[in-house]
Formats: sequence, C-alpha cells, structure tokens
Amino acid sequence: MRFDVLTLFPEVIEHYCDISIMKRAKKNGVFEINAVNPRDFTLDKHKKVDDTPYGGGAGMVLAPQPYIDAYESIDKKENSITVMLSPQGEPLNEKIVCDFAKYEQVIMLCGHYEGFDERIRDIIKPKEISIGDFVLTGGELPALCLIDAVSRKIEGTLGKIESAHDDSFSNGLLEYPQYTKPRQYRGLNVPEVLLNGNHKEIAQFRLNQQIERTKKRRPDLYKKYLANNGN
Ligand code: SAM
Repeated sequence: MRFDVLTLFPEVIEHYCDISIMKRAKKNGVFEINAVNPRDFTLDKHKKVDDTPYGGGAGMVLAPQPYIDAYESIDKKENSITVMLSPQGEPLNEKIVCDFAKYEQVIMLCGHYEGFDERIRDIIKPKEISIGDFVLTGGELPALCLIDAVSRKIEGTLGKIESAHDDSFSNGLLEYPQYTKPRQYRGLNVPEVLLNGNHKEIAQFRLNQQIERTKKRRPDLYKKYLANNGN
C-alpha cells in the first residue's frame, strides 16, 4: 500500500508514521508514505498557497494551482483512489476502511484554513471523507486516522491479523471487555469464566458481552446486527 498525502505540514504525517506499530509496519513494507507539500509547487513568488475568498468572508481559501500541480506530480498506480478529507464528506466507518485497504494506493488531500477552492474538487473529483460532525483546523489528523485504520487491515501491521478480527465493528458489534493481570485489583475481579480455560465458554461469554454492550451503547449498531443475523 502506498499513501500519498498532500499537506502543508508533511512533518505531522511523517512523525506519526515513525512511532510504534506504524513504524514497524512501514519497516515491514506494509505501506510506504509520501507526504507532498503543495507549497513546494506554488508559482507565487512569496510561496503563498492561499488567498482571500471571492464574495468576502472570514479566513483564507486554498488556491487551486499549488494543490492541482502537487496532485499531478504524484505517480498514480492503476488501483488507486483519491480522497479529500473534509467535514462535508461521507462519515468514515469500518466498511470504508476495509474497502480502502484493497487499493494499492490511497492519495489524500488535507485542507487547512477555510478549506479548498471548489475547483480543486471539480478537477480532481476526489471521494470526500469526514471523520465526524465537527471541524478541525486541518486534514492531517483525519488523514492519519485513515492511514492508521487502513494499515491495521493489512497483514504485517499487527502482530496477529486476528487481533483486528476481534475489534469493535468487525462483526458489527462493539468489542467485549478485556482484562489482564492481576486477577484482583481494588476489589474488582476478573470474571471466573475467563480463567477456566474452556474456550467454548469463553467465546460464548464474550459474544454475550458484545451483544449487551452494543445494545446499551450503540442501539443503532445493535439494530443493524439483529437485521443482519436474521432477527
Ligand atoms: N470551511 C470548511 C467547512 O466548513 O466545511 C472547514 C475547513 S476546516 C477548518 C480545514 C480543513 O480541515 C478541511 O479542509 C479538511 O481537510 C479538514 N477537516 C476539518 N474537519 C474535518 C473533519 N471532520 N473530517 C475530515 N476533515 C476535516
């Protein structure tokens, strides 16, 4: 997988991908990261990448030329998708993450200030993705959410790919509660069933916990789970 990220702050992307699990995944060749700065492509003599909005209004808008030229400089693989991080996009979810993991290349456009000149959308025609109904100052954190979540779906990122199979959302439910040592902490015990070594009972206990937890915390997901499981 290759992630190309158009960003005014390449160091944010590079730094995150040089830590912990992401660092190991990159070293193992799970993904390559290429952060491209549109500022390096601006034809403006003062290196400007933004300007005031036509029609007035607060803030600055990202000008088309540096973004389009930076985008066109990227080598496109055959099986590639281009994503614009935007609060106006489709909300990111597990299905989108799994779909993206099937591509060879994900190209991401990170905005800043008041966002993109509309012609960047018109020309590039990216798929727009949002990480929620709130507004951040830039697209770098959303791009990193995408890179991180997609990488976890690719063999070689996690110690065991099965870890991802048990995660929340993978079977339409939230994950069951997890415990580690010690067996007792501040008067709270690890459930007995997890200590008895009976794998069938443990699996049943965990599934029940997943169902209860999802029903209580995410009735929307629970309803979908019931519908998908013939209820
Ligand atoms: N004026 C824009 C609007 O209201 O739609 C918001 C611009 S925001 C301040 C600057 C950039 O941050 C956006 O272009 C986008 O790349 C990123 N961004 C902010 N919130 C986001 C979100 N919820 N999901 C994805 N990207 C987001």
